[in-house]
Amino acid sequence: MDTETKLDITILGCGTSTGVPVVGCDCAVCTSEDMRNQRTRSSLMLEWNGHVVLVDTGPDLRAQCLREGVKRVDAVVYTHTHADHVHGIDDLRPFNAAEGADIDIYGSWHTVRRLERTFAYAFKRSDAEGFCPRLEAHSVDGAFDLFGLRIVPVELEHGRGSVLGYRFGAFAYLTDCSHIPAAAAVKLRNLEVLIIDGLRFKPHMSHLTIDAAIEAGRDLGAKRLILTHLSHDVDYPRHNHRLPAGVEFAYDGLHLSLDIALKEPSAPPM
Ligand SMILES: [Zn+2]
Ligand SMILES: [Zn+2]
Ligand SMILES: [Zn+2]
Repeated sequence: MDTETKLDITILGCGTSTGVPVVGCDCAVCTSEDMRNQRTRSSLMLEWNGHVVLVDTGPDLRAQCLREGVKRVDAVVYTHTHADHVHGIDDLRPFNAAEGADIDIYGSWHTVRRLERTFAYAFKRSDAEGFCPRLEAHSVDGAFDLFGLRIVPVELEHGRGSVLGYRFGAFAYLTDCSHIPAAAAVKLRNLEVLIIDGLRFKPHMSHLTIDAAIEAGRDLGAKRLILTHLSHDVDYPRHNHRLPAGVEFAYDGLHLSLDIALKEPSAPPM
């Protein structure tokens, strides 16, 4: 029997790989005092049924967790292995200590293998010296259940590479994508909220432009569209009100809540 509960979504960061302000840049956005123009690297926190799950662990993870008062992390779902999405992995250590347990991480086979190679010390108990993260890797190949919630990975194009987007009930998070293939689009119908890559106005080979992201959201029929992974070309107070109805730019700390149906909470898959 399904149980109704809330999915709480917090944008930990909505910046592109450099973050905004960009180091050394004096443009109007980088020198803006509007907090919505100050973007840490892209990452998301999801909470349901007492569990906390992150999507990615970017280099600003520590500051993001302090800002949001994060007390626990039960699992991390990875989109891909670009540095701006993984290099805060060591900042998971306090959550290992708080729970006294390993943290389960999920991603494509390719992502998980690469994380195991790059951060081998976090996965091999016997080699570990000092204060290391303790992670347990699970590669996903299709939908899986986590703490009672069905999670649907969707494969997206990201320049010449690929990335996983994820659907959680009527919500989906598609960061770092340049194209949504038809096989992914069929899994992204009837969304209440879609957070999608909308890097900047000008074209980029690995990311959707703002216009292309809005068009993709419309094609999918998402009711509320939030653009993320934003560069310093986006000036929130100047540009946000010019977006079409139902479309908005993300900002760090943006919080929303959705109703979801949980199956009986089950153990994470091996
Ligand atoms: Zn990125
Ligand atoms: Zn700038
Ligand atoms: Zn990327």
